[in-house]
Amino acid sequence: MKTLSTVAAMQAVAREQRAAGHRVGFVPTMGFLHEGHLSLMQLAREHADVVVASVFVNPTQFGPNEDLDQYPRNMARDLELCASSGVDYLFCPSAEEVYTPDCSVYVDEDVLSTGLCGASRSGHFRGVLTVVAKLFNMVMPDVAVFGQKDAQQAALIQRMVRDLNFPIEIVVSPIVREPDGLAMSSRNTYLSVDERAQALWLHRVLKQAALQASEGADGSAVLLSDMRALLAHEAPSLDVEYIEIVDAVSLVPVESAVSGVLIAIAAKVGKTRLIDNVIL
Ligand code: AMP
Repeated sequence: MKTLSTVAAMQAVAREQRAAGHRVGFVPTMGFLHEGHLSLMQLAREHADVVVASVFVNPTQFGPNEDLDQYPRNMARDLELCASSGVDYLFCPSAEEVYTPDCSVYVDEDVLSTGLCGASRSGHFRGVLTVVAKLFNMVMPDVAVFGQKDAQQAALIQRMVRDLNFPIEIVVSPIVREPDGLAMSSRNTYLSVDERAQALWLHRVLKQAALQASEGADGSAVLLSDMRALLAHEAPSLDVEYIEIVDAVSLVPVESAVSGVLIAIAAKVGKTRLIDNVIL
């Protein structure tokens, strides 16, 4: 595995690989890698001849009161994990390399980015879409893999690729969970033992709703109120930001939780904001 830290070096490799007729697969991450990230790299390998992963904690997607400075980092470990997961090139640029000091062009989306996490994280998806568009121009992949864990992000990237005509196939990979069901996340490292026990209820209420829906109780209002009641009873210290049942592509709320629909949840456990979801 080769490590690259400049845009010029990354673009030179991208051109070389394309000229050789290789299909390039790309997995962007913010590092502090776990099995969820590694599953994306393995899937990229199945779709491409050459796999590029990036580790870049993108400052523009963090709000002023969010955890940019505390965000967990362990570059030495990430390097080892990428190398053992079949990554050919690891791109880890600095913030100065990615953003010119007077940059003034961004990618904004007006519809899908306004609800769910976008409602409370103003500017977050502008930061995400801008950095992903920039990374696409640096890595020039044929295929890029994103996690279903960040369902709204995956929907937005598919929309950006469609609306801005990026010649890139987007593959969305299933959520990887801890044995007890907690969705893997770099931010899980912030949780105390007690907070982690509370956090498990995010997945549990999603499972309950999916079960109810599979048994025919598909009215969104009933499912949502049952989920809220279960959370209030079992995990009262979870500060629920939203629970919504939406169309998985348009992210518009739906009245019936039929097959293919997305149930998404965000909550704060102590100071840690966690998200999870299920597609019926
Ligand atoms: P992050 O490093 O959190 O920005 O995540 C990088 C990529 O990994 C994104 O496409 C995430 O959706 C994906 N990802 C994060 N956690 C998981 C997980 N538990 N399962 C599957 N994909 C994940």
